[in-house]
Amino acid sequence: MTDPFQAYLSLTGYTRFDIQAVLFDMDGVLYNSMPAHCKSWFQTMTEFGYHCTYEEFFIHEGRTGGSTINLLTQREFGRDATEEEIKVIYARKTELFTQYNQGETIPFAREMLHQVKSNGLDTILVTGSGQHSLLGKLEENFPGIFVREKMVTAFDVKNGKPNPEPYLKGLTRGGRLETNQAVVVENAPMGVQSASDAGIFCIAINTGPIDEQVLYDAGADIVLPSMEDLFVKWESILASLKNASRKI
Ligand code: CA
Repeated sequence: MTDPFQAYLSLTGYTRFDIQAVLFDMDGVLYNSMPAHCKSWFQTMTEFGYHCTYEEFFIHEGRTGGSTINLLTQREFGRDATEEEIKVIYARKTELFTQYNQGETIPFAREMLHQVKSNGLDTILVTGSGQHSLLGKLEENFPGIFVREKMVTAFDVKNGKPNPEPYLKGLTRGGRLETNQAVVVENAPMGVQSASDAGIFCIAINTGPIDEQVLYDAGADIVLPSMEDLFVKWESILASLKNASRKI
C-alpha cells in the first residue's frame, strides 16, 4: 500500500510537513449528532412533500442547510428553492433537531482534543453547522479547547463544504497556515472533499453508515473506523507526519 504521507508530499510538492494545528469538523466527529440530523431532515422534507430517504442525509452531510434544501428542490421540482422556502424549511428542521438531539459527544473526542493540545498543536473548528444549540455547548463539553476566533461556522463562509472555502478559512484563522501545516479530521464525504480540495492532509473517521471507499474516493488520505482508533494511533500518525520527507 502507498504511504499516505509520501503520497501527499509527492502530490503537493512540499518537502515536509510542518504540523501546527488540527482542524476538526464538528457533527459526526465531536458530536454524535448525525442520527438526529438525518431524522430531522427526513421528517422535515417529507412533511414538505419531498421524496427522500433517511440515509441520503449522511451523504449530504457537511453542506449548509440552504444547499441541502436547494439540491432536493432541484431534484424533486426541477428548480431552485426560494429564499422563503429555505427559511421556512430550515426553521422546521432546526426545531426538530433541537428536539431530537441529545448532545451526546463522540467517544474519545475529548481525549483526542486534549492529546492534540498536549502535543502543542492548535485546535480549530471547521463546521458547516449554524445550529446555535450545538455551538453553544462546545465550551461546556470541551472546555478550554476552542476559541471563537479560531472557529469557522456556517456564518463565516459564502460557500459551504464541499467547496474548499471553509477549510481554507480555517487555515487563515489558525494564523495564516500553509496547507502542509495542518491536518483535518472529518467524517463525511463532502467535508473530506472540502479538505482535500483545500490541499490539506485529511484523516476521515467513519462514524456513520457509509462505506469507507466513499471517503477514500472523496480524497481522504487515511480512513479509520472511529475516533477511538484515531486516539490510539495518533502518536504514531504524528510521528509519521514529523518524519515524512519527500524523496527527490
Ligand atoms: Ca461532519
